[in-house]
Amino acid sequence: SGKWAKAMDILREFEDRCGTPIAKLRQVADAMTVEMHAGLASDGGSKLKMLISYVDNLPTGDETGIFYALDLGGTNFRVLRVKLGGADNVKKEFTEVSIPSHLMTGTCEDLFDFIAGELAKFVATEGEDMHITAGTQRELGFTFSFPVKQSSIAGGTLVRWTKGFNIEDAVGQDVVDELTKAMERIGLDMRVSALVNDTVGTLAGGRYSNTNVIAAVILGTGTNAAYVERANAIPKWQGLLPKSGEMVINMEWGNFRSSHLPLTEFDENLDNASLNPGEQIFEKIISGMYLGEIVRRVLLKMAKEAEFFGETVPLKLETQFVLRTPDMSAMHHDSTPDLKVVATKLKDILEISNTSLKMRRVIVEVCETVATRGARLSAAGILGILKKIGRDTIKEGEEPQKSVIAMDGGLFEHYTKFRKAMQTAMDELLGEEASNNILIELSNDGSGLGAALLAASHSQYR
Ligand code: ADP
Ligand code: MG
Repeated sequence: SGKWAKAMDILREFEDRCGTPIAKLRQVADAMTVEMHAGLASDGGSKLKMLISYVDNLPTGDETGIFYALDLGGTNFRVLRVKLGGADNVKKEFTEVSIPSHLMTGTCEDLFDFIAGELAKFVATEGEDMHITAGTQRELGFTFSFPVKQSSIAGGTLVRWTKGFNIEDAVGQDVVDELTKAMERIGLDMRVSALVNDTVGTLAGGRYSNTNVIAAVILGTGTNAAYVERANAIPKWQGLLPKSGEMVINMEWGNFRSSHLPLTEFDENLDNASLNPGEQIFEKIISGMYLGEIVRRVLLKMAKEAEFFGETVPLKLETQFVLRTPDMSAMHHDSTPDLKVVATKLKDILEISNTSLKMRRVIVEVCETVATRGARLSAAGILGILKKIGRDTIKEGEEPQKSVIAMDGGLFEHYTKFRKAMQTAMDELLGEEASNNILIELSNDGSGLGAALLAASHSQYR
């Protein structure tokens, strides 16, 4: 019928606009490299903030002692206690708490009081073998996965919120001061020794077990990347050159944008309706917070303009963010012959029943299009980093050098088809030889360990 043809038109047009042929990915990678240079040249020189992390030494494996880490960045936050015994000998204990949503848009004090309270509860569970030396202060590595302008390894002000957080009175505040004050309010004696972005923590955690780690990428609720830069390639750096000659840069790549990005009307509408319009455009087409929402918006248009789900538009389909990325992923991976999982998800989440197999196939195709675009653009971003540091090709006559990208985040970890599409794009972009020497490795919760390691190397007792 005409309606089905209309739905197919919407689908095909969407697919066309989401196209990521290799030539386009190369343009995106080149644009990423250009923006990296610009962001390193001056503050405000680019959409890419290219934040200086003050991490100029990555873990060596010699770190020892008991340290805490706190990871705040998404819907959950984790508290970790590690006992570092040197040479890969680590004992970890952790707890994970979800952040009540009212605290994500409330006041700075309420958020930090909650965090300090949970931290204190965890400290109270310290066992015999995890007691710190009498007379010394507990030390913490604070992983804070939002853009922060650091002033030192253990201090920095919040530039802005992302990923559904919006606490106005916290912007411009030093987050270490805020945490320290909250700990003081409840009498928890602990020193924040390192403030790190989760990408920087993941890089540090990855380097601890593999010296070839040169960058870290997060693909979770949001997305971001960090990498090791030559200190003399950072024109905006005014301080002394570090002894190591290196500096870890937190790119804040989620805010990347370029005319080469394949954006659609759905992305534009999603952005306009978001808490941070005009910002985090790369993040909004790649990361876990948004992929399911893009799918919903495409289906909504098909429902409205082509009566895809019948004469009335399903009410639930009008609700922002009802379709979460894990549910999209489950539909996309449905391997039952009659797409039972898709049918169940449609019924449970969108209250849509009586779909035909043909319709369910279309829905899987929308998921495929959205996930593939995100995965391939992530690969292009990584190529941009490799180019910037000259690791994208094998140098003639030189022993091939391995480069490892430490990867973390629930999207990469759980969304198999996303991960595979990303690897395929990497292989296509790099070619076989270079591709054999560039490895993407899942570093499961490497950022917590990394933050603890950085607290150790910046301990007041060192
Ligand atoms: P965060 O990024 O909040 O620190 P995670 O790294 O654990 O936390 O990532 C969580 C995100 O990963 C979720 O918001 C979701 O978008 C995505 N995710 C989790 N599970 C799945 C899944 N099964 N399939 C696809 N995406 C998933
Ligand atoms: Mg995280």
